[in-house]
Amino acid sequence: MPSHQPVAGMAAKDPEYMDPQPSAAASASEPNRNKSYDPKKPHITETPITRANWYKHVNWLNVFFIIGIPMLGCVAACWTPLRWQTAVWAVIYYFWTGLGITAGYHRLWAHKSYNASLPLKIFLAGVGGGAVEGSIRWWSRDHRAHHRYTDTTKDPYSVRKGLMYSHLGWMVMKQNPKRIGRTDITDLNEDPVVVWQHRNYIKVVFFMGLIFPTLVAGLGWGDWFGGYIYAGILRIFFVQQATFCVNSLAHWLGDQPFDDRNSPRDHVITALVTLGEGYHNFHHEFPSDYRNAIEWHQYDPTKWCIWVWSKLGLASDLKQFRSNEIEKGRVQQLQKKLDQKRAGLDWGVPLDQLPVIEWDDYVEQAKNGRGLIAVAGVVHDVTDFINEHPGGKALIKSGLGKDATSMFNGGVYLHSNAAHNLLSTLRVGVIRGGMEVEIWKRAQRENKDINFVKDDAGNRIIRAGQQVTKVEQPIVTATAA
Ligand SMILES: [Zn+2]
Ligand SMILES: [Zn+2]
Repeated sequence: MPSHQPVAGMAAKDPEYMDPQPSAAASASEPNRNKSYDPKKPHITETPITRANWYKHVNWLNVFFIIGIPMLGCVAACWTPLRWQTAVWAVIYYFWTGLGITAGYHRLWAHKSYNASLPLKIFLAGVGGGAVEGSIRWWSRDHRAHHRYTDTTKDPYSVRKGLMYSHLGWMVMKQNPKRIGRTDITDLNEDPVVVWQHRNYIKVVFFMGLIFPTLVAGLGWGDWFGGYIYAGILRIFFVQQATFCVNSLAHWLGDQPFDDRNSPRDHVITALVTLGEGYHNFHHEFPSDYRNAIEWHQYDPTKWCIWVWSKLGLASDLKQFRSNEIEKGRVQQLQKKLDQKRAGLDWGVPLDQLPVIEWDDYVEQAKNGRGLIAVAGVVHDVTDFINEHPGGKALIKSGLGKDATSMFNGGVYLHSNAAHNLLSTLRVGVIRGGMEVEIWKRAQRENKDINFVKDDAGNRIIRAGQQVTKVEQPIVTATAA
């Protein structure tokens, strides 16, 4: 969380709310929001970190909230016996406050992926505040910038700056408020629950983060201090670290089934840690979908909760991308991967780059001892292959200097697809007037383009059985005719 709004921040003093007509620009991150900000003075982040000034680069308030307090909690836990009721409550409250972030802050407010009734909004704003990760308004604004400017310098928690930076560093080190990309949060400024939570953020944090979990354990089974340490402080620590993983782990670990131009990734481990936010490659492609996991067997408890709330009438208008659109993205990415794989293979010199040889030259060179063989108008140099020919030396030698098209295509032996592929890597020329060249000439004469299927890099795709050396078999059955 940047310097102008720390974890338990100065939200209530945000001058943006004094703006009578908040415009899209005004609701974005504005450097002059910070009263101590002087546009003439360079921001501390613009000066290099030295031994003399390093402490000025650190956001000490955030260090206290996200590192200091948890450490104190760990120490205190050594002297505080953990009662089973408190342990159960801490886990339950962990899920509630986690959901406040994932189902509330993230999918409801940052992405508008569904509508929530007022009671549900109040619940999510409360438990989300209990996770101590800033106000909804502040969190959603940064998150929208993260989606809009993913992996760029305007991304508030870009993983390109390192895994630790995207996890914690962006909060522990001061950020230049001018740097974060602008986003429109007019809708959030019009949501009374968001505005109320932002204005009363410190009260919400102390009540929902510490007082409420302590009260439940204290009034419920008399474990006041245990409730405070386990369901309060340590639970905050775990829920913070878990949700921070969406910014770090989800941009670092796993697959990219929909798009690999940016860092977001899908992984079940991240999903387990983040209440289902681990299908992050999908999420960055389809951010307004209320789901992160689209398969029934994938772990996305946040989605399940939203779905149950919709059945209970608490949530509505659950947004879902059509599976046709999702599958299109998946197929395109698969195609890209396939093209990359294909590009790494040797398919032989493209025919249009091969020299054109006269038939007589070809025969002459073969007579002079070069192991040349012509199949379908393409000349191949098989000198080094003669001894390895699975059908024996004699058979291949009998084709040298001749048109071996029919021999190769069933006259002597109907060669396999793999044999056609291998042959293509040996090609050295095309015969003038040979089959492939003939087709080009005819197409040019008739002023037609020859449309081959090409991959991303413009290379012709050779599907199995479509090699130039492969000649169509004549139709032999009466019914086929
Ligand atoms: Zn992300
Ligand atoms: Zn998101």
